[in-house]
Amino acid sequence: MTQRKPLVAANWKMNGSKALVDDMTHSLAVVDFTAVDVMICPPATLLPLFPQGTAIALGGQNLSQYDAGAYTGELSASLLLQAGARYVLVGHSERRSLFSEDDDILLAKVQQAVATGLIPVFCVGENLQQRQQEKTTEVLAKQLAAVYASHPELLAKSVIAYEPVWAIGTGEAATPEQAQQAHAAIRQLLARYDTVAASKVRILYGGSVNASNAAALFNEADIDGGLVGGASLKPAEFLEICRSAK
Ligand code: PEP
Repeated sequence: MTQRKPLVAANWKMNGSKALVDDMTHSLAVVDFTAVDVMICPPATLLPLFPQGTAIALGGQNLSQYDAGAYTGELSASLLLQAGARYVLVGHSERRSLFSEDDDILLAKVQQAVATGLIPVFCVGENLQQRQQEKTTEVLAKQLAAVYASHPELLAKSVIAYEPVWAIGTGEAATPEQAQQAHAAIRQLLARYDTVAASKVRILYGGSVNASNAAALFNEADIDGGLVGGASLKPAEFLEICRSAK
C-alpha cells in the first residue's frame, strides 16, 4: 500500500490579520510535523508576516496564468514563491463560479505553478444539482481531464482537493462514506493518466471540516487530509483538526 503523508491545509479566504498569523503560529507549534504536513493559505499580503523557520508551509489562494506584465491586480507564481509560498490553490469553486475561471485558464494556472516550483492544490467538486442527478463522477472526470489528460506529467507535482460545492461553508460536510467514494473515484480517474502518480497523489477533502468530523473523514483510505475554510480561522480548532490527521 502506498504511504501518503497527510496534509491539512487552511484556506483563510479574504479573512485574517497579523494578529491571526501570530496566534495561529503559536497554536500550531505543538503539532507533530512528522505525522502531518500543515499548510496555510492566507491572503497573499500576509504571507511575509509568517515567521521563517517553522514547519508550517504556506500557500497562495490563487495565481495568475501569466508570467509577468500588464495585469493589474494579479499575482504571478514567482511573486507568490518570493513571498514565501510553496503551494497554491487552483480552481477553488469560488474562483470557478465568482471569477469565471474555466478549464483552459485552470490548466494554464496549474502549468504556471509547476513551472515555477509551486505545488498546485487543484480543487474539484460537484454542485448540489449535479450530485442529485448522480453526475458526480462525470463532473469530476471532466474537471480532472481538463488538466491531466493533456498533461499527465503534472499529476506527480500536484495535490488534489475534493470539495463538493454543496458542502463548502454550509456546515453540511460530506459523510466519510460519501467522501471516500468520491476520493476513490478521483484516484481511479487519475490512474488513466499515470497509475503510479495516482496512487501517490494526496487527495484532500474540503467542505465544512471541523474538529468534530475531521478524524472520521481522515480515517478513510483515500482521504489524505483536508482543506479547511471556516474552521481554519480558529487556532484551537484548527490545531485539533491537524491532530486528527495521522
Ligand atoms: C473552502 O473554502 O475551501 C472550504 C472548505 O470552506 P469550509 O471549510 O468553510 O467549508
